[in-house]
Amino acid sequence: MSLEMRTSLCTPIPEIFVAARRLSDAVDAHLGGDFENASRLLREADCPKVWAYIDAGWGKGARARYAFVEVAGAPPLLLKPDRPTPRMPTSITKAAVKLRDKMHCRFCGMPVIDAAIRMAIVSCYPDVVGWPRTDVGKHAAFTCMWLQYDHVLPNSRGGDSSLENIVLTCAACNFGRMETTLEEGRLAHPLQANPQIVWSGYKDWDGLERFSARKQPDGSGDA
Ligand SMILES: [Zn+2]
Repeated sequence: MSLEMRTSLCTPIPEIFVAARRLSDAVDAHLGGDFENASRLLREADCPKVWAYIDAGWGKGARARYAFVEVAGAPPLLLKPDRPTPRMPTSITKAAVKLRDKMHCRFCGMPVIDAAIRMAIVSCYPDVVGWPRTDVGKHAAFTCMWLQYDHVLPNSRGGDSSLENIVLTCAACNFGRMETTLEEGRLAHPLQANPQIVWSGYKDWDGLERFSARKQPDGSGDA
């Protein structure tokens, strides 16, 4: 019996794409000096349905929820000293992955946002974009679209951090799969099976990278 393969563990809900559009509009408002409007849009993107999606997508119970399977002869879980190093890709590899994967999750097609950009936005709008240490209180859209460098073959199973073994993913796709191999997750190879999701913002989504090194709400940093 052959198991049916899938392109991703979860399918993004439409509210995520609406939130992405709001974040993008917020950045445009910010860059145009309209900080009040930027604030409003950032707040609107903090959508409860988006939070519910990510809250259900990661964390404990993934193995049962996503119906992972046992695969005979699968690479064993390695002890930490036996895993390939470096554990994470270099900055050069990260830049190449971002360019290749066009700031979208390679499994589910969701737009993603680098932590550095998120933190720049948090520092400008701390009252609107919550980012406490706890999960509770984090901004829903920024949590859901949190850019991850995910090992196709998990590092704990012998995967290295080369360009060929690293893909961009969203938080749910990375934390949902964790140390599971593609075969155990019944997943097609993300570099061979592109996500089928097409949304109107796909072509111009830059991960909000245009936000960096621009105007602050107090007018400082204006080029
Ligand atoms: Zn994803």
